[in-house]
Amino acid sequence: MSEIDKHHIENNPEFEGLKVNQGIEQPAPVSSDSVKRFLKKQRKLLAVDEYVNGILNGDITLLSKAVTLVESAKPNHQKLAQEIITLCLPHSGKSVRVGITGVPGVGKSTFIEAVGKYITSRGDKLAVLAIDPSSERTKGSILGDKTRMEELAGDPNAYIRPSPAAGSLGGVARKTRETIILCEAAGFTHILIETVGVGQSETAVHSMTDFFLLLMLAGAGDELQGIKRGIMEMADLIAINKADGNNVDKAKMAQVQYRNAIHLFPTKESDWEPGVLTCSAFNKIGIDAIWQEVEKYKAKTVENGYFYKKRNEQSTYWMHETIEGQLRQNFYENPEIKEKLRVLENYVLNDKMSSFIAAGELLDLYSKLK
Ligand code: GDP
Repeated sequence: MSEIDKHHIENNPEFEGLKVNQGIEQPAPVSSDSVKRFLKKQRKLLAVDEYVNGILNGDITLLSKAVTLVESAKPNHQKLAQEIITLCLPHSGKSVRVGITGVPGVGKSTFIEAVGKYITSRGDKLAVLAIDPSSERTKGSILGDKTRMEELAGDPNAYIRPSPAAGSLGGVARKTRETIILCEAAGFTHILIETVGVGQSETAVHSMTDFFLLLMLAGAGDELQGIKRGIMEMADLIAINKADGNNVDKAKMAQVQYRNAIHLFPTKESDWEPGVLTCSAFNKIGIDAIWQEVEKYKAKTVENGYFYKKRNEQSTYWMHETIEGQLRQNFYENPEIKEKLRVLENYVLNDKMSSFIAAGELLDLYSKLK
């Protein structure tokens, strides 16, 4: 009996029947080759049908892998992604898509967590996506960051996907739009898309959602200054968050002011009159009333036909966006164009050629190359 055996508590006669086992044989140490082999296996692409069947069966791992392909810039990934999307398309569309915006700190993540739990507690499946082209993945400005939605992240009925990595707004938005299709094909009936209320990304979110929710705060001073008027005009509902504690009265006052303000906006094509509600995402108060507005909106616009009209318009919008994006990319990545562009740019900068003639020459060259 070794020293260890003698002293080990399990070898005390009191613990009859117990003994210290010999250790098991150790596997070979991890070599860089085996790590490489493992990573290669991880990266191995599957056949289109494997992704599609997985998605249609609600397999989250395969859904995530397909979304990674959508987000990838590699041409072979893109080709595969487009094949998957095409096969998923007939199974998509059966959802309500809600855009959520508001300045950083207004409580978007807290709200999404609260409304998300409300949705999943009814047995519905929810996907949370984000558009944040400025995404620097730092300090809480990250939309859809799982650490900011802990409860929801652990919910089997919820799928959270952070914004695709920083890039052009059009590119990031297109990827999110394609991810919606995959999520819907995977059975997610509720899609929330988050963005910050400070730039152009609202327009992109608006172009892929059915309902647009603007979260606001009852701030000091002019209540309408926080957010651009254009964004307020897009809203189908304004919710004044943090209506709790000492803030309740201020929130009620802001509610009256916003109601008066949005009365002055032109009537919407949807024939829907945007409301103004208050809520406390933190205390989960007023969340159900907000979601009921989304449901009322859907019922009304399905009935009056606007719901599908808007979706059709969005589909053609994205078709044109994609064409433009692709043309631009093909043009600027063409080596002969790149070369001539450098030369003509110089001419333009030195007043040797007008911008329009330079552009015309480049386009001429491009059409001959094709
Ligand atoms: P986001 O940047 O818009 O996503 O905002 P967060 O959800 O990260 O919230 C910013 C801060 O506001 C956090 O400290 C939250 O706890 C707090 N917060 C969010 N919702 C409420 C609310 O309803 N009431 C109060 N009092 N605080 C809230």
